[in-house]
Amino acid sequence: MKNQIVQERMLIGGEWVKAKEEMDVFDPGTGELIATVPSASVEDVKEAIKKAKDGAEKSATLSVHERMNILHKAASYIEANKTSFVNTIIAESSKTIREARKEVIRCIETLRLSAEEARRIDGQTIPFSQMPGHETRVGYVYRFPVGIVAAITPFNDPLNLVAHKVGPAIAAGNAVIVKPASLTPLSALRLAEAFLHAGLPANILSVITGRGSNICDPLVEHDDVRFVSFTGGYETGKEITKKVGVKKTGMELGSNSPTIILKDANVEEAISSTVSGAFGVAGQNCIGVQRIYVEYPLYQTFLTRFVKETKKLKVGTKSEETTDIGPMISEKEAKRVESWIAEAKKLGASICCGGERKKAYVEPTVLTNVPTQATIATQEVFGPVVLIEPVDSLQEAIEQSNDSGYGLQAGIFTEKLETAFQAIHELQFGGVMINDSSDVRIDGMPFGGIKGSGIGREGVRYAIEAMTEQKVVAFKLQK
Ligand code: NAP
Repeated sequence: MKNQIVQERMLIGGEWVKAKEEMDVFDPGTGELIATVPSASVEDVKEAIKKAKDGAEKSATLSVHERMNILHKAASYIEANKTSFVNTIIAESSKTIREARKEVIRCIETLRLSAEEARRIDGQTIPFSQMPGHETRVGYVYRFPVGIVAAITPFNDPLNLVAHKVGPAIAAGNAVIVKPASLTPLSALRLAEAFLHAGLPANILSVITGRGSNICDPLVEHDDVRFVSFTGGYETGKEITKKVGVKKTGMELGSNSPTIILKDANVEEAISSTVSGAFGVAGQNCIGVQRIYVEYPLYQTFLTRFVKETKKLKVGTKSEETTDIGPMISEKEAKRVESWIAEAKKLGASICCGGERKKAYVEPTVLTNVPTQATIATQEVFGPVVLIEPVDSLQEAIEQSNDSGYGLQAGIFTEKLETAFQAIHELQFGGVMINDSSDVRIDGMPFGGIKGSGIGREGVRYAIEAMTEQKVVAFKLQK
């Protein structure tokens, strides 16, 4: 039976509109065309910004309880239509049915957290009398919305990473223009549908679909846009930072996250946590485990058991309950990963399992003895490949972990408190997970990296801080 192609519209202000041109959306698992979406023009972007100016004024005047109500209603809409949101994620992305379900649940949580955090946007009083001559002044700080937020999002969590920008933006009283990844625009459009259903006034939210390389410059460069919230790759983030000018930015970028396994680790836990951390979403996860450093006495046992568990993973059709690993986001990306594995092998690395590609599917792959000049040793692989190397000591493991241009999250397995604290202090990352792999995130924690992994933090409350400005107020009292 021929697949039905859905013709989507994008949301500009309160209206669902077409564009002069269209883009195709494919199921990466089958290569089938599943939808067409508008390919926005620069004029469409300008129109979205114009509407967002009105939206920002409206949003700022919504009372906190009105914002909370809208966010709760949007969350409830998604909950009531969970299956259809799950199916949209499965169709357009790499996610298996179990992974897609988790993402929808997290999106609901992100929106509910946004509603709750809306009531906690507060400020402190300022003790002016600390300065001689200011004894008669009293004052405080309050937070006000930045205005228009531009939200540019990646393909790997096509719903929840959009919610991580839209939820806080609305909670803080802003207007927001979303530019989702061209490979996975459908979930973002469905999220917009939830907000319209929840009664969000027109012009507060736009979702414009189109090629980032064509339409993001006029968005991020525009003076009326006051905050650029970007999640995506390092190179794209670097380009955007050159263009934004004098405005706030949040950069949630990539990583090649390490996890350290010391000889006193609980091996069972370490294996199950690092196997799932390395291969979830076919390795396309910014905090996915890419490098594992194992202390010598445990190395061979760990490697053997890790490979055994990896071989049990089932690669296959995304919609089947028993599938562990789906396709990569495109055959092009799968070929890139395949070529990085081949290069490492040529330079002397050993392939312990996996290494094969069929169309967009790459087998979960374990490499050892990877030389430092191999691309996969230093760059973000963003695919189902993990490097497992032995180390002599904690110190060596920390040095190897820090020897990276990235610094998002790291994990360490040890039973010793002193060792854990040493790692916490010396690992140069935005997060350190003890007795867990690097792949730990809840939606309410501060999330972000240092070095090439970005600037700023998301995790609703922290995104709200970034999407608001502080205003100092001082009253001079008469003596
Ligand atoms: P990407 O290629 O950098 O694309 C991200 C977004 O930027 C897309 O919407 C893309 O639009 C847009 N874009 C592309 N070229 C642009 C340009 N010249 N100017 C402005 N925007 C442009 O990233 P991806 O492949 O979708 O996602 C994978 C990356 O995201 C990985 O590096 C991963 O680690 C990172 N990531 C980070 C986090 C985090 O929270 N730290 C979370 C998830 C993912 P088009 O799709 O139209 O090209």
